[in-house]
Amino acid sequence: STVKPESFKSTCSYCGVGCGIIVHKDKKGQVSVEGDPEHPVNKGMLCSKGMNLHYVVRDQSDRLTHPQMRWGKSHPLERVDWDTAMQRAAAVFQSIIKKHGPDAVAFYVSGQCLTEEYYLVNKLSKGYLQTNNIDTNSRLCMSSAVMGYIKTLGEDSVPIAYDDIELADCFMVAGANPAWCHPILWRRVEKHKEENPNTKIIVVDPRVTQSCSLADLHLQINPGTDEALYLAIGRGLIEQGDIDVDFIKNHSDGFEAYRDLVMETSLEESAAICGVSTTDILLAASYIGDAKGFITMWAMGLNQSTEGVNKNLALIDLNLITGQIGKPGAGPFSLTGQPNAMGGREVGGMATLLASHRSLNNPEHRQEVADFWGVDKLPEQAGKTATQIFEGLEEGSIKAVWIICTNPLVSMPDARRVENALKKAKFVVVQDISTKAAAIPYADLVLPAAGWGEKEGTMTNSERRISYLPKFTPAPGEALPDAEILIRFAKKMGFGGFDHASMAEVYQEYCQLTKGTNIDISALTYAHLKQVGTVQWPFTGLNPEGTPRLFTDHKFHTPNGRAQILASGPKNKTELTDTDFPLILTTGRIRDQWHTMTRTGKVSKLNKHIASPFLEIHPEDAQRRNIKEGDTVLITGKRGEVRVHAQITTNINAGVVFLPMHWGKILQNDLSRANNLTGNGIDPVSKQPDFKFSAVQVEKY
Ligand code: SF4
Repeated sequence: STVKPESFKSTCSYCGVGCGIIVHKDKKGQVSVEGDPEHPVNKGMLCSKGMNLHYVVRDQSDRLTHPQMRWGKSHPLERVDWDTAMQRAAAVFQSIIKKHGPDAVAFYVSGQCLTEEYYLVNKLSKGYLQTNNIDTNSRLCMSSAVMGYIKTLGEDSVPIAYDDIELADCFMVAGANPAWCHPILWRRVEKHKEENPNTKIIVVDPRVTQSCSLADLHLQINPGTDEALYLAIGRGLIEQGDIDVDFIKNHSDGFEAYRDLVMETSLEESAAICGVSTTDILLAASYIGDAKGFITMWAMGLNQSTEGVNKNLALIDLNLITGQIGKPGAGPFSLTGQPNAMGGREVGGMATLLASHRSLNNPEHRQEVADFWGVDKLPEQAGKTATQIFEGLEEGSIKAVWIICTNPLVSMPDARRVENALKKAKFVVVQDISTKAAAIPYADLVLPAAGWGEKEGTMTNSERRISYLPKFTPAPGEALPDAEILIRFAKKMGFGGFDHASMAEVYQEYCQLTKGTNIDISALTYAHLKQVGTVQWPFTGLNPEGTPRLFTDHKFHTPNGRAQILASGPKNKTELTDTDFPLILTTGRIRDQWHTMTRTGKVSKLNKHIASPFLEIHPEDAQRRNIKEGDTVLITGKRGEVRVHAQITTNINAGVVFLPMHWGKILQNDLSRANNLTGNGIDPVSKQPDFKFSAVQVEKY
């Protein structure tokens, strides 16, 4: 049958850059995509992943199409209707909560969820089930940056806009490879540097990555030593007289303690810790000191660490002591991994947060949200975070988990422990789009969800830009939008407060909850987003496009309005190497795959870039083990093993090896899963796990 050809404006569903996409539907209903030339983020460009999104929409071969349920652990999954599925979920949750209390259940959701879904699952869990056990895979991604912002700036507020890129003349890219992981954002940096060759780019990374090809200076530090480096650069800036005394005096606290701390360690000592030269530390300091506009950019290399928050503080301090914040082309800028990790943070989508930047620790804030939701109170204690949820399942304090839109058996650290936890769980719900979600064999209930383009809602990108994503194609079979599934469950539980007639109503409700806060979007509507395209929060209605840059008045969201310069001495609490496990394993991403490959793995064009998992190893480490290029190698650690082929390269230092994190099972074999080797160390403040430092041994297989 033929339909009228149509076009829709949407946003790419992969990374936090948030590129605008135009979706075309031809008269056969076939979908194709192109970059939106009018979109302020990407101006028509798309990276390889975004460019191939239509293949993911067209290929429905792996889609979950109907609810499935098993009556007991020894029974097979069998097809049921939605009503039976929801009835069972409600009955099991009610009985567990009655017997063991509300903290015996947990939700583990995703930075891929739309803001409305994130909002509803938080309202359901914190407000109505009365448990803060709702966490998300953003815990693995951005939680150290969230705490870094809260501690220094008072709230989780990214100060800058992408348009600051073209106004900066010095970038420090720390623990990130944006050339591969945030490609369109990096394209803007590249173009800016092409047009302004004096722009200085410093890359800090234990590996030589694609991003280094643009760098004026690559600081190839020893893994885990970032904090020591930033403090040493801080010392260099102070000694060179390149600090902003007025900003420090008038708009910040804590400089004296910071100065005393950085002066405790000589540049020579810091250089030895980091494995770089004092000359390079001072060169970085002089690039920063000479800059009119200085931007720090960072991602997982800093966040995924047992010292993640302190690393964030030490980096943000470089912006604060130089007064490089709240002005054109300047500021700290965390690169969000997932498309809507920011939206999740805004609605309080984590076990330790509350909606609209309210604090879970503040009784008044809790009561405000409780009153808004029409419940008596909210639970006081922070809920279990990502790794703690699976620990709770393993030890039995959590009986039921509801997993939405994420693949923890591939993405969580110490994956075998997650397997064990799911085996021990009394009740597991897996709500996903794909039959490839690795937790399905452990599920008691499998719920088919609608994917990108099959539901409507909003997302927020790395620069606080909110966009509306339309529904342009039907979901397959009986699959439903995640929000609809949550609403059906809430109604089966007998909860009021979920009578929304549309997603627009859900969004309106959330927008009203932001009223009077620093992220106020109470004037925002779907209609405005459809008309204007996108807006950056806060949005009070005065400026139709919202607020591109924060803190231009140098008034911060801290109680006294001043930025906090905070630092503590570096203490490496990660796993130490020893004679059994002498190499440091670090993990990361490749250009053409997204997370656990459930979508990008379907696109043959994307698989061509790098077709199979590999281990990067330095020639000296390879030679010592008689390993040749392409040999199969066995990587062992305290928690498991991985078997992949070796890629011998001087892009990584001796003593360090690198594995990509994307691959889970290949055929029936899970030996390419990097997270067989990663551990359970978490940052004590952000609770973010460390994926960048595990002790391993490598041998020829
Ligand atoms: Fe999508 Fe990110 Fe690529 Fe943009 S840069 S097209 S948002 S994956």
